[in-house]
Amino acid sequence: MIRDHFRVLRVDLADGRGEVMTLEGRDRVAGGSGLAVLLFEKYGRVDKPWDDPEQPLIFALGPLTGYFPLMSKTVCAFKSPYHDQYAESHAGGRSALALRFADYDALVFTGKAERLSAVALGSRRLEMRDVHYMRGLDLQITGKMLRRMFGGAGHRSILRIGPAGEMGSAMACINADTYRHFGRLGGGAVMGAKNLKGIVIQGDGAFDLPEGKTYAKLFQDVYKKLTDTDMMDKYHNLGTPVNVNVLNGLRALPCRNLQQTHDEAMEGISGEKFAEETLMRNTACSGCPIGCIHVGFMREKFMEPNQYLYRQVSYDHEPIFATGSMLGVTNAFKVLALIDVTEKMGLDVMSAGVALAWATEALERGLISLKETLATLKFGEPETYIEALVHLGRGENDFYRLLGQGVLKAAKHYGGEDFACVLGQEMAGYATGEVFFISQALGFRHSHLDAGGYSYDQKHQEKDVEKAVGFLVQDEQERVLLTSMVSCLFAREVYKREVLAECLGSLGYKTLAGDLEAVSGRVQKLRWKIRVATGFNPSAVEIPKRFTEVTTWKGKVDGDYLKALKSDYARSIMEMGREETDDRR
Ligand code: SF4
Repeated sequence: MIRDHFRVLRVDLADGRGEVMTLEGRDRVAGGSGLAVLLFEKYGRVDKPWDDPEQPLIFALGPLTGYFPLMSKTVCAFKSPYHDQYAESHAGGRSALALRFADYDALVFTGKAERLSAVALGSRRLEMRDVHYMRGLDLQITGKMLRRMFGGAGHRSILRIGPAGEMGSAMACINADTYRHFGRLGGGAVMGAKNLKGIVIQGDGAFDLPEGKTYAKLFQDVYKKLTDTDMMDKYHNLGTPVNVNVLNGLRALPCRNLQQTHDEAMEGISGEKFAEETLMRNTACSGCPIGCIHVGFMREKFMEPNQYLYRQVSYDHEPIFATGSMLGVTNAFKVLALIDVTEKMGLDVMSAGVALAWATEALERGLISLKETLATLKFGEPETYIEALVHLGRGENDFYRLLGQGVLKAAKHYGGEDFACVLGQEMAGYATGEVFFISQALGFRHSHLDAGGYSYDQKHQEKDVEKAVGFLVQDEQERVLLTSMVSCLFAREVYKREVLAECLGSLGYKTLAGDLEAVSGRVQKLRWKIRVATGFNPSAVEIPKRFTEVTTWKGKVDGDYLKALKSDYARSIMEMGREETDDRR
């Protein structure tokens, strides 16, 4: 065991000073999601807005990080600009391992820097530098400059924001090591509000592995399970874009602002097409033998007559859905070009793509005009979207600034709420049916990964509300356990509770290993308690009409079933949020 408590570095951005603290609670909340909510309880203000300088920006890792494969994610927690409520966003990359090597279980940033700044930290180092000259710089240039400024390599992780974060867009992401993101719910704007352009984490320490055969053997078993299953093939081979053809075949791929769920032309942006024509290489988060990150290339002419440069752009199912099928763009290279601009602006690609899909339909219907969009948005025409993404990222006019706060906010002002594809936040790339719609709309992170609603839709024909809601609550609890470790959720078939208990036991976390049911239930309730305290009312979540007009392979969405699911799941969430949690255990 590395320690039976948490070691947390708190940085006050107002004066650049840091303090290393000890926090009890390992056996109660494990780490990750559990540690983040514990820290938000300690430092967060439920009664103050998201951009109050006092609000914390938290990064937390789990007890197995650095010891077992695919324990490679970091949980970022903050009060979100999207809804002014407690939120989490997760990312891979190198931050988890860098933090483990720097010997911290979590980072907490409070206060606001006087000028735009970057922070570099390690096991014996904390430095804050004025980077006011980086204001407005895109994410790629920002990354290059931070790499040069702070030096070091190895277990180094660089988190940074682009123009969208600086201007307070609720769609601003925090980029982690170029190819991964704390994407959703506006973490980038929280950094922007703190005048924090970048965080460089130097994993400059070391830690011992347990002695004896037990740990080594268990590591090998887990590694073998992870690499022998078809997970390796699915995620390494085509990666998540394999879903494009699968969902299209099922009539469950959102196309053209969800006006369709199937289109033959989407073959042009299938995982197979991306692999055949654009794929350069695979890469992986630190500590992961799977390597699901697919990096394609795009060419850009920078000078006449024939001067080109090429750029490496990572792709997954979600960015392909958001900038491809949702916008009617069916050419893989054009999709990479759109992802590339979104990256530079520091926008969450899912929210940005869905926002422009709504804007296109609103323009077609005459609710907005060129005066608002500044570009002639048209489904299937990527060039106009390249322009629009820059406008959205930089908040070019009132329209784009409002759209950047969320599609429903723009729709309430301009009209077009019925066709806003929003489920708590802009939808993810699955139109599988009622259970998924409710799962994302009411789920804690409004993420397709909060619970497996999309897979429940595909496996169950019956419309049993109690059973479906029971599944969502139980599945969330299982996933909360994983996000408290903090495992990549792609490993969920291997990291079942018994395996996690064995892993924890091998590191000496005996009490925690024997109490995982209670721990996961406690963290699930604690998160809902804070979410509700910051204003979440699941009954008030709107499901726009477009979702009731969808037809999948199961037929038309059943509006009554949708309503019943919503009401039952909302009740369960409020019960979890209200339940007394014994925090002293
Ligand atoms: S499977 Fe992919 S996302 Fe998960 S840890 Fe590995 S590389 Fe990262």
